Amino acid sequence: MPELPEVEHVVRALSPVVVGRRILAAELNLKRIAPGISRPAFARRLRNSRITEVGRRGKYILFKLESGHVLTTHLRMTGKFVALTNDQSLPPYAHVIFYLDDDRRLVFCDMRQFGRMNIFKAPLPKELQTLAPEPLSDEFTEDYFIETLARSRRPLKHLLLDQTRVLGLGNIYAVEALFLAGVNPMKAANTLSKPRARKLYQAIRDVLQEAIDAGSTLRIDLADGNGSYLGAPERFWRVYERASEPCVSCETKIRRVVQGGRSTYYCPKCQKR
Ligand SMILES: [Zn+2]
Repeated sequence: MPELPEVEHVVRALSPVVVGRRILAAELNLKRIAPGISRPAFARRLRNSRITEVGRRGKYILFKLESGHVLTTHLRMTGKFVALTNDQSLPPYAHVIFYLDDDRRLVFCDMRQFGRMNIFKAPLPKELQTLAPEPLSDEFTEDYFIETLARSRRPLKHLLLDQTRVLGLGNIYAVEALFLAGVNPMKAANTLSKPRARKLYQAIRDVLQEAIDAGSTLRIDLADGNGSYLGAPERFWRVYERASEPCVSCETKIRRVVQGGRSTYYCPKCQKR
């Protein structure tokens, strides 16, 4: 599943392709991709709309339209955008097609069909309104983070995955950030000292920034209908999926535990309770 840093790169790849383009027509071929809107309404709202901006809020990709509407896309497991010229044949699982005014088609493909789209006009839908501040923005301050921890008795790992509290960490980045900060994932959030909370705050920003920087090697190719956004080269993780391997800093064996149904990896020596 693409995480926030990967979605950021999808937005960057989409931007030169779609910003300023007019959608001449839009076809929703698989209804379940946009359950909140009928197929005719989907087509009607997008027809003849110019795309003025492409952005992101959490893992939602936002196409802002001249009409004031916003098209939101969540890629979920396997959703991806492909840009095709008119003479190229449609790739497999092409569920939504946008005909652009430069004789290209932007196609949303999704093998597993979990991807979701919606169109709305202000106010933002609830699932977007409740998201925590963007982790690399100025709104995500150290004070905000420290107060958020102080208000929760949940284990830190759970809190870090709650997108309404801390945005942008999937399972991998949460365990990596906890390791970088030397903080135990099972520790109750409100028992973390301020100096260590500051370290964790910095580690969150560092792992996300590092992932975005590394993403320049992702090679998101919008013209490749058969490729996958997840075809990225293997990244090196400090603790993630390294159970029983030696810790990169102290050589103690990395431990794996299951928290809330997800695997947590940590070094029992570097991340004492
Ligand atoms: Zn260690």
